[in-house]
Amino acid sequence: MPTSIPRYRFTDCGDGDLGPGAAEVDRRRREVIALPWTWLRQVHGGDVVVVDRPGAQAGCRADGAVTTVPGAAIAVQVADCAPVAVLGESVVGVAHAGWRGLVAGIVPAVVDTMRRLAPGPLRAVIGPCIRPRCYPFGTTDLEAVARVVGDVVRAETGDGEPALDLAAAVRAALADVGVERCDDIGVCTACSPSHWSHRGNSDGQRQALVAWLGA
Ligand SMILES: [Zn+2]
Repeated sequence: MPTSIPRYRFTDCGDGDLGPGAAEVDRRRREVIALPWTWLRQVHGGDVVVVDRPGAQAGCRADGAVTTVPGAAIAVQVADCAPVAVLGESVVGVAHAGWRGLVAGIVPAVVDTMRRLAPGPLRAVIGPCIRPRCYPFGTTDLEAVARVVGDVVRAETGDGEPALDLAAAVRAALADVGVERCDDIGVCTACSPSHWSHRGNSDGQRQALVAWLGA
């Protein structure tokens, strides 16, 4: 019976607020997946923790986590930034990828850490995040992101204003480090009634991406 199949789940409002400070968050985490969770104190940076036993590094300041240990749930929480699951044969990784994290290199940091621990092919899944039609973005910051990630970040809102295409940026960052297989859930957090959006609706709650190796 294999016990190291990569699994992941993107939560939505129906799973409740999975922000680290939310009331009863431990119970909600157990209801999503009943394993010890390594959640992160996210800072929009490029640091990644390696989780070497279930629950290790919980509460660390980082924006990515990686594990090869069956039964260790690794998670990020989001409400517009992109949650990215990276899946290998006996390794999983998660990234909290907003524009600052992309500039800080969070995507290659997760992929490099996974390859160091467990060689083999990787694929990725981009979860619900804000989409360019709903994400007007200042041109100065847009230039800064484009310098690092490339021109794929440039887009327009529904009103024709400059916008950032976060999912395209994540996809490009993955391709840069050789992860070509990338699925995209395609949901816009600002439009979806089932997801929280910080920018779209000033929501304080967070949905989660949780990944683990399981049966
Ligand atoms: Zn939208």
